[in-house]
Amino acid sequence: MSTFAQIYQKIEQFSTIILHRHTSPDPDALGSQAGLARSLKLKFPAKRILCAGENDEGDLSWINQMDQVEPTDYQGALVITTDTANTARIANKLYDQGDLLIKIDHHPDVEPYADLSYVDADAPAASQIVADFIIEQGLPLTDQVAYPLYAGIVGDTGRFMYPETTEHTFNVVAKLTATGININEIARQISDVTFEQAKLQAVVLDYMEADPSGAAYAVLSQATLAKLGVDFEQASCTVSTPGRIKDIIAWNVFVEKPDGTYRVHYRSKGPVINELAAKHDGGGHALASGANAKDLTEVKQIFAELVQVTKEYQKNYE
Ligand code: AMP
Repeated sequence: MSTFAQIYQKIEQFSTIILHRHTSPDPDALGSQAGLARSLKLKFPAKRILCAGENDEGDLSWINQMDQVEPTDYQGALVITTDTANTARIANKLYDQGDLLIKIDHHPDVEPYADLSYVDADAPAASQIVADFIIEQGLPLTDQVAYPLYAGIVGDTGRFMYPETTEHTFNVVAKLTATGININEIARQISDVTFEQAKLQAVVLDYMEADPSGAAYAVLSQATLAKLGVDFEQASCTVSTPGRIKDIIAWNVFVEKPDGTYRVHYRSKGPVINELAAKHDGGGHALASGANAKDLTEVKQIFAELVQVTKEYQKNYE
């Protein structure tokens, strides 16, 4: 029996299903969770299907809003996580209170924490895997289901730009768009930034330091965010900005948290960076990862490591 068929069998067996995703959610985390929840609700109207989080949707609440979950909801429940590689990043720590845990993910399987897993690290988005699951198992695919899944795929493929985007992605997306979703509205929701965020993107370019290897970094302090009136989560809009420059092939954006530590974003056009992120309380994909730095000394160390792998990459491709 395929893993999808096994997952479907478990879904049929449980009357309560609670879906979790990662903290600081992006469109793929919220989209994969919402798409699966909405399709299951349509197929199984008698089941209780809940989306759990930590009220951390921020500006992405247009994709989906969370349900209130209580410890008692987990008695006899099936819990499914989407888009979340490790337990530390699962939003809402009640996730381990259910009877069975299933993981559906597209990150490298660094922590096989579930009783049953479907992990495809080559898939560009967890939302694409969920769409595949819905299509293959004949679950309902309406516009309400397709909308968050499409948002997730657009988000994690960088609008179909990143290398994991394949012909299969476009085949799946064709089925999602056939439901009548407004793809222009979704594209605008994902791409549009506030005037303050646009200014912060300009600040990133202004503050950015580039190494001759093609590695670059920028640090955004709390003072900079406060001056522009951009909050910590909204600062993520700057992550892709350095990559627009032709000669930059790997970069870090460091965003200071209110407690003085730093959230670290790693992005790359070639050098593998998730092994670097793993050394700093992080992880992710080969070309897009995240981590944490406790102070500016660790920030400097992180960038020095990035320069090193970028130099090695350039040497191999000369
Ligand atoms: P971000 O830079 O936050 O947009 O994250 C890029 C990718 O790395 C996403 O796939 C995240 O799920 C993953 N990621 C971000 N932060 C962490 C972390 N602290 N630990 C593991 N994975 C992370």
